[in-house]
Amino acid sequence: MTSQEGRLREAMVRFGQSLFLRGYGCGSSGNLSVRLEDGILVTPTNSCLGMLEPERIAKLDSEGRHLAGDKPSKEAFLHLAIYDERPEDRAVVHLHATHSVAVSCLEGLDPADLLPPITAYYAMRIGRLPLVPYFRPGDLALAEAVRGVAKDHHAMLLANHGPVVSAKALDAAVYSAEELEETAKLFLLLGERRYRCLDEAQLAELREAFPN
Ligand code: ZN
Repeated sequence: MTSQEGRLREAMVRFGQSLFLRGYGCGSSGNLSVRLEDGILVTPTNSCLGMLEPERIAKLDSEGRHLAGDKPSKEAFLHLAIYDERPEDRAVVHLHATHSVAVSCLEGLDPADLLPPITAYYAMRIGRLPLVPYFRPGDLALAEAVRGVAKDHHAMLLANHGPVVSAKALDAAVYSAEELEETAKLFLLLGERRYRCLDEAQLAELREAFPN
């Protein structure tokens, strides 16, 4: 194992624990992955994000074959589909975080972009949030649906399931997933009240000040 792989395994443990302790995952829900030069590290099946062990994290080759560590998450195929479509991204975070799941169940939202730009940080970290239709756990048709969306989006919400977010590094993917969950919470908190969102000019100003 290279020292870089060792560092990434440790980072997965730390970020998993941080997410779990603050309630972004419960039980054995949620999974994290990072892309290496020679494969992908994915959290094991039935593992709790709060109790990961570096050497037990599963290693897969780029085709998804199990190389080392415990058996990978049953949702590893989601991560593989995203890496295939987004060659620059090197980390994927998938959660069953409560408020995001609640939004994923709501009727009447625009499936092309579920949440409004309530804050500048949401606009910068997530931008647009499309809905991926519901498929039962383990259905490979979900991977195809995710693949179709991932080409143009680094964040998406799986219907009646939860968010999937990718980024160029694990910390960025985790922070974006947290921003998404907090924005879902704000959206539900604001509910039917009248509230302001960032307008087109404010969004354009952000894009200019912080180009990707
Ligand atoms: Zn899931």
